[in-house]
Amino acid sequence: MQIKTLELDEFMQGLIRRNPGETEFHQAVQEVAEDIIPFVNQHPQYGDAALLERMTEPDRIISFRVCWADDEGNIRVNRGYRVQYNNAIGPYKGGLRFHPSVNQSVLKFLGFEQVFKNSLTTLPMGGGKGGSDFNPKGKSDREVMRFCQSFMTELHKHIGPNRDVPAGDIGVGAREIGYLFGQYKRLENEFTGTLTGKSLEFGGSLIRTEATGYGTVYFMELMLNHRGDSLKGKEVVISGSGNVAQYAAEKAIQLGAKVLTMSDSGGYIYDKDGISEEKLAFIIDLKTIRRGRISEYAEKFGCDYHQGKRPWDVPCQIALPCATQNEISVENAKTLVKNGIIAIAEGANMPTFIDAIHVFHDNKVLYAPGKASNAGGVAVSGLEMSQNSQRISWSRKELDERLRNIMSDIHQQCLKYGGGNGYVDYVKGAWPAGFVKVANAMLAYGVV
Ligand code: NDP
Repeated sequence: MQIKTLELDEFMQGLIRRNPGETEFHQAVQEVAEDIIPFVNQHPQYGDAALLERMTEPDRIISFRVCWADDEGNIRVNRGYRVQYNNAIGPYKGGLRFHPSVNQSVLKFLGFEQVFKNSLTTLPMGGGKGGSDFNPKGKSDREVMRFCQSFMTELHKHIGPNRDVPAGDIGVGAREIGYLFGQYKRLENEFTGTLTGKSLEFGGSLIRTEATGYGTVYFMELMLNHRGDSLKGKEVVISGSGNVAQYAAEKAIQLGAKVLTMSDSGGYIYDKDGISEEKLAFIIDLKTIRRGRISEYAEKFGCDYHQGKRPWDVPCQIALPCATQNEISVENAKTLVKNGIIAIAEGANMPTFIDAIHVFHDNKVLYAPGKASNAGGVAVSGLEMSQNSQRISWSRKELDERLRNIMSDIHQQCLKYGGGNGYVDYVKGAWPAGFVKVANAMLAYGVV
């Protein structure tokens, strides 16, 4: 048999042909393929087994109708999905997203990235993602409950503690997980750790709420420490004001940084004095309990609010995008560089366009891709699964230490493949590290 080598353009053309119109999925694969294809070509055992081709095809996609009645008695119809992407190294694991922008392309991109991210955590978890185009914003608690119950009535057939363990993501927080788990338990007549991100009263883990944001900032601190620097005294720009953004802000403040901005889909606030822990408590209450708009922060504390804008024009040394995909364009990246940015760590999934990543690399800005820097959330979800199956609960201190150790392991793996020449390319580092474990497992299974 001839040794097979892959060409990036040819590979991408084939992928685009097989997955027409799925632009987010194309973008996510392209980002990996740029670095993985040279790696695969250097390691022919992977190319010969067509592993990249197999890894870019999900194991299966489940798509279903979700009907529910709103408070006025109108019948509503949404579409639900679960993309079970790859379970080579463990049960499918990944969040559920409820947002009007959810479609098959978005969930395939998220599921694909999740496979590598979960592998990087060193825990035995495969990758998956799911959700619906349902918009929880503006819905009553009862409407959200009815939607979640209807969604789970189908989903429960496809998940389980050893099969597929969903968690939260955009639009799916503690409230939604409670409704989903309640319905799952009712249908299965079993109490198992099938969902993570649960409340503490019914099997949740300490630190899970904080884990993605904290982990992102731990990763940032590790990158800076590796350069002999730290977050102390740095000016930080954060996008988003949801779960990930809130706890990224909290940890950045605790490590001595000054957080200048937070945002939501309406715009961003710019607090030149810095967001203190007290002001952050207002944001957490505003966004999590009262479900209000970030503009209320500007009214309360008398700072600037920029409607319809993202915060990347604000001068800073550190950027933490924590809202959603594709929030940093090439122009944004150039502005950040001009204003003196030294490092960026993604709390969100794929917030940076590929061309913008190239701008950061060309200017030697430290850039941590989400699959490395935001893996803390799924890592603690993995620890929640372990606690559930052993029926034990670890302490906050123990879990925080485990989270730090996992982030440090991920950082080390990135250095292994991405270090050299005095600059660490974390993209080059993260992909092969995540890829090798999954690829080796798939090789061992033969052609399946
Ligand atoms: P939340 O729903 O808690 O918060 C999302 C935040 O992003 C909100 O402030 C929301 O604003 C804003 N946002 C959403 N869509 C847009 C948009 N199109 N334009 C501008 N702002 C937007 O979600 P999370 O904090 O959980 O997730 C944020 C990101 O982190 C996502 O990319 C997610 O995939 C990623 N992530 C999350 C993990 C977790 O553990 N939760 C784990 C790993 C990654 P508004 O309030 O107006 O809707």
